[in-house]
Amino acid sequence: MSVPRLEVLDVTVRFAGLTALDTVGFTVEPGSLHAVIGPNGAGKSTCFNVLSGVYRASSGSVRFGEAELTALAPHRIAALGVARTFQNIALSPHLSVRDNLMLGRHRLTRAGFLAAGLRLPSARREAAEHGGRVAEIAAFVGLADRLATPVGLLPYGVQKRVELARALCMEPRLLLLDEPVAGMNGGERRDMAELIVAIRESLGISILLVEHDMGMVMRLADTVTVLDFGRRIADGPPDRVQRDPEVIRAYLGA
Ligand code: ADP
Ligand code: MG
Repeated sequence: MSVPRLEVLDVTVRFAGLTALDTVGFTVEPGSLHAVIGPNGAGKSTCFNVLSGVYRASSGSVRFGEAELTALAPHRIAALGVARTFQNIALSPHLSVRDNLMLGRHRLTRAGFLAAGLRLPSARREAAEHGGRVAEIAAFVGLADRLATPVGLLPYGVQKRVELARALCMEPRLLLLDEPVAGMNGGERRDMAELIVAIRESLGISILLVEHDMGMVMRLADTVTVLDFGRRIADGPPDRVQRDPEVIRAYLGA
């Protein structure tokens, strides 16, 4: 599996009366862990929404290897191997962990999303075909003994891991993680950070991490892009970015 370079080129996103992203550019090198950080409202989630096709850029472009993502629908971008998690959990709470993960796998299956949700015979066949890989991924993220549990009954920190597993079930080449440790306690944060490192080391995929937690980002990332009010104010290795006066000002709100 080859992992292409992601190139974000001068992307601007305007909403009525507001520029959420202003000519933002950065490159995610294949196999690297690249973080996008910035204060609330900086444009981090908007950036993810452009990369995953949820929002259309007003101008600029996004390239993933040879593919131009800018005009593609979300399912086409997912089919190219770009998977994401959401800042707020977007799982089906009444379905089991296994079924949520099978839904994540739907781009690889014929029966697809609706059939899996309705438990049609075609979905049963696919459960047999994909069940092994789903169980493997569940074990990898520490969910092996929760496969039959309805997601809504799990603690928040565990639900976030289900979301991550669901994205992995799409066999991504680029994984977009939007605030994976938001709302977690110290222990859950450490577990999730460890898991992110393990994903990168064992799968060799690129990871684009949006995080509010500066400390976590500085420990994990190879490269950090800092946004503030929709503008890129710094980009580079964590130690350099951390000492950048403009970054310090943005974070302290001075
Ligand atoms: P972050 O994730 O860095 O906290 P966001 O990307 O969510 O920031 O938001 C950036 C700015 O764009 C904010 O001012 C937000 O209110 C605005 N914004 C985001 N999505 C929309 C939308 N769909 N419509 C209007 N404004 C939006
Ligand atoms: Mg956000």
